Amino acid sequence: MLYRSRLDPLTELLNRQTFDSQVMDIINSDGFAERRDNELERQWYLAMFDIDHFKRVNDTYGHVIGDEVIILVARILKQSFRSEDYVFRYGGEEFAVLLLCDNKDQAMQVLERLRATVADFTFPQVKRLTISTGFCAFDNTSMVPELVHKADLALYNAKNNGRNQVVDFHSLNIPDNPKGAGDDDLDDDMLELF
Ligand code: GH3
Ligand code: MG
Ligand code: MG
Repeated sequence: MLYRSRLDPLTELLNRQTFDSQVMDIINSDGFAERRDNELERQWYLAMFDIDHFKRVNDTYGHVIGDEVIILVARILKQSFRSEDYVFRYGGEEFAVLLLCDNKDQAMQVLERLRATVADFTFPQVKRLTISTGFCAFDNTSMVPELVHKADLALYNAKNNGRNQVVDFHSLNIPDNPKGAGDDDLDDDMLELF
């Protein structure tokens, strides 16, 4: 029962309510990096995904087919990550993943492979569909809203640059300024992106 309450009923991914506490757990468990004996230090990353032009799917084929697309994308997501990673349905057709990787190149590689898998998948009726992805690395200063904001900024950038792509927040060269940076600063950065 406890476990089911953590799941989204449509996709059986972890739900939005579970997301914040899982991110907090990672932050609090010394968290942004995990080192096993004699192993490379690995780091947690947050990736946010949004299906491209999903309104068209609903408008053209109806909500039932829209729901089916969400279920199929969720299935591809589940199959693309390891059991140590966490996959969430974050909102309607938005997903979030917490993943452990050696470095950001590896994170980019995993996410890029996922992007290609979705783009190559033949959905019933809809046929072709793409997703946009933004991601950022956990660090030792950001809390949940800041991490989500960073991944979101990268996601907006992916949308703005033509969709069907993966963008690393750190490639945007937005100053990482957690102490002085309130939401206003990030919103200004967001405006500049548009
Ligand atoms: P963009 O590429 O900019 O993301 O365009 P979009 O059309 O996908 O825009 P947006 O992400 O804002 O639209 C999300 C739509 O998803 C709006 C809403 O009607 C639909 N939606 C949200 N949740 C569900 C759901 O559970 N089932 C279905 N069928 N549709 C949903
Ligand atoms: Mg959306
Ligand atoms: Mg969308």
